[in-house]
Amino acid sequence: MTQDRDSGRSVRAELAAHLRALRELGVTEIRRPAPPPAAAGPAARPAPVASGAAIAPLGATATAPVSRPRTAASSSPAVHPDADTSGERPSVAGIEAPAGDPAALLEELRRDEIGECVRCKLSGGRKTIVFGSGNPEARLMFVGEGPGADEDAQGLPFVGRAGQLLTKMIESMSVGGRRLTRDEVYIANIIKCRPPGNRDPEPEEIAACEGFLFAQIAIIQPRVVVALGAFAARTLLRSKAPISALRGRFHEYRGTRLMPTFHPAYILRNYTEETRRTVYEDLKKAAADLEAAG
Ligand code: URA
Repeated sequence: MTQDRDSGRSVRAELAAHLRALRELGVTEIRRPAPPPAAAGPAARPAPVASGAAIAPLGATATAPVSRPRTAASSSPAVHPDADTSGERPSVAGIEAPAGDPAALLEELRRDEIGECVRCKLSGGRKTIVFGSGNPEARLMFVGEGPGADEDAQGLPFVGRAGQLLTKMIESMSVGGRRLTRDEVYIANIIKCRPPGNRDPEPEEIAACEGFLFAQIAIIQPRVVVALGAFAARTLLRSKAPISALRGRFHEYRGTRLMPTFHPAYILRNYTEETRRTVYEDLKKAAADLEAAG
């Protein structure tokens, strides 16, 4: 009984925190998901959730894990007209679609390939190389621009103010009747070392580092990559288009579905209901795609 009351309280606390996060993202209404089919057997997939009805009740059973197995993309995402699809992207250590344990492969990449990297001038000013963090078998991956001061100090991506907002963005996503958590996705950046004064990364810094991100994606093989902001989207899509033209629809990145959206730091600078809702809608499309893939 006491246990029931305690778990009731923690569910309420969880619900309150979630509602706060949704409000901050500009969500003003919550719809109930469709009821499950009556005779769902063990092999039955959850009913796909329409992209407008993605918020599930607390305590719903997890039915669509946001980790392997992976399946091929079910429909053709858009290839941006500006994308240069002719050139081969660099591969790091020959990693294209590597076989083996993703956690071990990521560790190898970090230790043996990146090492104490001095391939660009950012190495001179960094405290730590911010490689990436999260589930090595994630079906959903987020890619940002590069570490800031907090990330440089802690060696982890997205741990500052923008990172706190990213966590809320992740937790606003619902797949398989439950919300995602930060530790079940993977988070990395285009560049792994902090630019001085948080300036934009320079083209040669991106060129020196992007191969490591390509290798991370090849190892993790996520179903969906969410590119946060212009640098991530343009680098992965080989595009010069503005983020406003790229965001909100799926593109193709080496067989993976890529959804560009605004960077959390941009949302913080433009903290309007419209910006927050726009990002929420983009993330809902990514969640719906994971949902449909089962
Ligand atoms: N902004 C980014 O793009 N990446 C981080 O890791 C932190 C802030």
